Amino acid sequence: MPYKVVVATRSFGTTSQEPWDVLAEGGCVPVAVDILQLTDEEFAEVLRDADGLIVGRRPVTADIIANASRLKVISMHGVGVDHIDLEAAKAQGVAVANCPDANFNSVADLTLGLMVAVARQIPQVSQAVQGGEWGRFSGVEVWEKTLGLVGLGRVGRGVARRATGFQMSVLVYDPYLTVAEVEDAGGRMVALDELLAEADFVSLHAPLTEETQHMINREALRRMKPTAYLVNTARGELVDEEALYEALTQGMIAGAALDVFTKEPPGDSPVLGLPNVVVTPHIGAHTREATTNASIMAARNVVQALQTGEPVHRVI
Ligand code: NAD
Repeated sequence: MPYKVVVATRSFGTTSQEPWDVLAEGGCVPVAVDILQLTDEEFAEVLRDADGLIVGRRPVTADIIANASRLKVISMHGVGVDHIDLEAAKAQGVAVANCPDANFNSVADLTLGLMVAVARQIPQVSQAVQGGEWGRFSGVEVWEKTLGLVGLGRVGRGVARRATGFQMSVLVYDPYLTVAEVEDAGGRMVALDELLAEADFVSLHAPLTEETQHMINREALRRMKPTAYLVNTARGELVDEEALYEALTQGMIAGAALDVFTKEPPGDSPVLGLPNVVVTPHIGAHTREATTNASIMAARNVVQALQTGEPVHRVI
């Protein structure tokens, strides 16, 4: 009997036929749902007799998992799985898998782009010029500045590699790495306080955990230089957005570039309207290359989990 696999992410298989072929060859019948239109009840209903789920940023709660009695695997079409109830999945014997190598180059590219964009106010200047202005806009250089990386995993390393092109000094705070691992990646291991105090650009690349939630709070922002910029392409909850608003409006830091927010879409978040902020709508992984990689990996995770009980990249 074929496996029913719910595809609950809009970007899956949009850049290549291969992920659909992987599912078909693995005996899966994909059921694509419009995740923007689907209520929680409808989501639970379509999963009721599903064997597998390929999901994007849509939360997968304990209730949804409990209702899906045949479910064997939840395959994240990306990296971060903080919106999936991992405990509930584990308790029900549902494997959770992700695509760890699919998109780090895309996120690292965007991070460098955001650094330059906020340092030179590129979006604001572009908007002004399109509106008929031709002023003398002035910014700061990224060249030879100090970069502070919070988290040196796949994305952090990708950013460190790119930063060498800008001749940046790279400071790293990552409590799970050795000094040698950080030095191999071209960085210098420091405590978080030192990183915050020294860096011209503080860039976040840690996962969202109890430990990292609001790690950039009032106190952390106070430690940063008034000329420094915060870049967040990791998860919005790493930053206390209210404290960030204060820091940005009181001259505590020079600016911020954000791809991720506490609430997405951020709606009425006060940081959106600030002149020293550059924002993108969680597009870190949105490139043709990353979508193709993630879709193929997500499909392989599902097929292998359904056929052998073990996905290619298991999270839990
Ligand atoms: P990764 O797992 O390869 O690396 C994460 C690193 O963070 C690891 O080296 C880990 O040791 C470190 N870390 C863990 N706890 C830490 C802490 N308390 N302080 C400092 N460092 C800590 O993950 P990755 O692929 O590099 O991705 C990083 C994060 O970026 C993901 O967790 C995800 O939330 C986010 N992300 C965002 C997008 C986007 O679209 N903007 C796309 C992909 C990933």
